[in-house]
Amino acid sequence: MNTATIRRRILDWFAEHKRDLPWRGTRDPYRIWISEIMLQQTRVAAVIPYYERFLARFPDPAALAAAPEQELLAAWAGLGYYSRARNLQKAAKKILELGGFPRDYPSIRDLPGVGDYTAAAIASIAFDLRFAALDGNVMRVLSRLTAQVADIRSAIARQTLRGFADRLVDPRRPGDFNQALMELGATVCLPRNPKCSSCPVVRQCLAHQLGKQNELPLKLGVAGAEKVAKRLLVIEKKGKVLAWQRPAGSRRLAGFWELPEPEQVPAASVGARIAGFRHTIVNTNYAIEVCRASLVRTPKGFYWIGTKNLHEVPLSTTAKKALACLSGQGARND
Ligand code: SF4
Repeated sequence: MNTATIRRRILDWFAEHKRDLPWRGTRDPYRIWISEIMLQQTRVAAVIPYYERFLARFPDPAALAAAPEQELLAAWAGLGYYSRARNLQKAAKKILELGGFPRDYPSIRDLPGVGDYTAAAIASIAFDLRFAALDGNVMRVLSRLTAQVADIRSAIARQTLRGFADRLVDPRRPGDFNQALMELGATVCLPRNPKCSSCPVVRQCLAHQLGKQNELPLKLGVAGAEKVAKRLLVIEKKGKVLAWQRPAGSRRLAGFWELPEPEQVPAASVGARIAGFRHTIVNTNYAIEVCRASLVRTPKGFYWIGTKNLHEVPLSTTAKKALACLSGQGARND
């Protein structure tokens, strides 16, 4: 396989077709790092409004390190996977101790919350270091280019694709090349129905030559997502809503505010259903029903929050969605 041709064609295509995204064009490692962490498990369209707002609020590692946790979580609320925000703050403190953003791969990789992919993306985009960044999109493109027939999650497939990616990454423009490959995966070499007729490497792609572009990458025995039904209660009193806060040691969403479920407030009388929506967390699909309810006494561990002050506290995404249903702004799936 002619790596020089593939490289050149992908870079030329990127120069012409890349999307205009707010984190493109900067070499500032702080901004690149924030964008890469936000983009982990979150779609580009969802990240865009958060990115500018977050950077306006925390423009450098010092501001991020000094932020009160509640403020940080409130700025992150809606992006999900909140350990990312906490790790950002831990890493910002480490960057201050180091006297600046680290400039070599091992030190970048050493920052809390930074894995192989993110370290390679920052090292290549900010510092021109030749490291291949392999995310899900890139793995898909490479597995099709090489017609990799082993299960994409197997050690052998990963090792083979890693070797190919290391050879392929452009030594002079590793940052551009990594971004180009990610862009190709995000916009052309799609998981289903890849747009091969618009692909710059269609002539070099083995999967396309074999007519297997829709079958690869191979994923054997993928377990279906678990389905869970639950109800959230909206209990209002004098312009306030009843909520509880997850403890600091909670495994998920520590410090976030939630609406009660019926089992937590057995004394509540549950009234009409307002709406329903779906929410996915990792491998679980929640079907959530939002109901009104009323209570005489405030149960232990619950607090009344003014509906006008809700934006000041970190609310979980499900609580946000449930409250949006109440005001008729939420995305209803029913
Ligand atoms: Fe993906 Fe099709 Fe391009 Fe091959 S030709 S890399 S399958 S878009």
